[in-house]
Amino acid sequence: MSQRYYIVGNWKMNGLRSAMTEARAIDRAAQRLPKVEVAIAPPATLIATMREGVTHIGVGAQNCHMAEKGAHTGDLSAQMLREAGADFVIVGHSERRADHHETDADVKAKAEAAQSIDMGVILCCGESEAERDSGEAEEIVARQLAASLPDGCQRLSVAYEPIWAIGTGRVPQVSDVAAMHRRLRTVLTDKYGDAGADVRILYGGSVKGDNAAELLAVPDVGGALVGGASLTADGFVPIIAAAAEQD
Ligand code: PEP
Repeated sequence: MSQRYYIVGNWKMNGLRSAMTEARAIDRAAQRLPKVEVAIAPPATLIATMREGVTHIGVGAQNCHMAEKGAHTGDLSAQMLREAGADFVIVGHSERRADHHETDADVKAKAEAAQSIDMGVILCCGESEAERDSGEAEEIVARQLAASLPDGCQRLSVAYEPIWAIGTGRVPQVSDVAAMHRRLRTVLTDKYGDAGADVRILYGGSVKGDNAAELLAVPDVGGALVGGASLTADGFVPIIAAAAEQD
């Protein structure tokens, strides 16, 4: 099944209300480029404002708790995020796995919590630099993904994000991206059968306007998860445009 490229901005812990100027400019660009599915995951504090301020892009959250409610000070459930206006949630980002000690089992539970209320999920996986240097990156990431996947694949995307490429300006060889995405596709079809072929696998890690076309052209790259370059329309729109220009 051929699907639109999915270009998602992860704003991380960036963005006050003043950043809505950028979100609205990105929204206008998305309206002009309907071949591409565009979304932003702002900080949770900006979800409701962004949902009201944009029309042509999805709005998502960067994390959710796996429980519906309860004694979890400072956390937000998937239901709360959806009520605020989030249509999807990113789970298992390497920064959360590192900073909050999230395990593969936690990531799976969070993905299932979101799916249970029909939210989209972007599930992140990726290797460290030492793991890449060991020559075992494909096996390691395949194992991480298999252990993190929810039981069903409805509204699921996967993001392959080599940790050493996030925010560093370093990008893997295109051949390494191709090999990893091929390997992750087999993990998805092993788990979900034919439906696993339709799960989009995004690439993330220092995607910019000047490297997006090359990365998006790789077989089995169904879009991009973009950090730093998604914070401004000047940085993000060229990536969306590069996706629109792919055959
Ligand atoms: C990310 O953290 O998801 C990411 C891909 O960041 P950057 O684009 O800044 O490397």
